[in-house]
Amino acid sequence: MCLQGNIAMMNCIKTRSLFSEYIDRQLGQKKSVSIAEHLSVCSECWKECENFMKILTIMKKLKTFDAPRNYLEGIGHGEKQDSQTLALRILFKKQLR
Ligand SMILES: [Zn+2]
Repeated sequence: MCLQGNIAMMNCIKTRSLFSEYIDRQLGQKKSVSIAEHLSVCSECWKECENFMKILTIMKKLKTFDAPRNYLEGIGHGEKQDSQTLALRILFKKQLR
């Protein structure tokens, strides 16, 4: 097992800072592989990545369908513009934990 090497290569902070680019596939292959390797051995970053993807999915849905009213009613009242801010707030709350 050489998992230690992978963790050292890409630490948690660096991995998390690259999530958005990783998910948008804007990283080179080497970096993407490093992140994927880190995620496979670090359950905390994996959870963070899942949260990140959920938020991105929500944000994309908001943009695409323009009808997240049911979702927003559960959190509070909101116009379309506020919904993205809300999604970001949820994200940062989780990251700043
Ligand atoms: Zn990690």
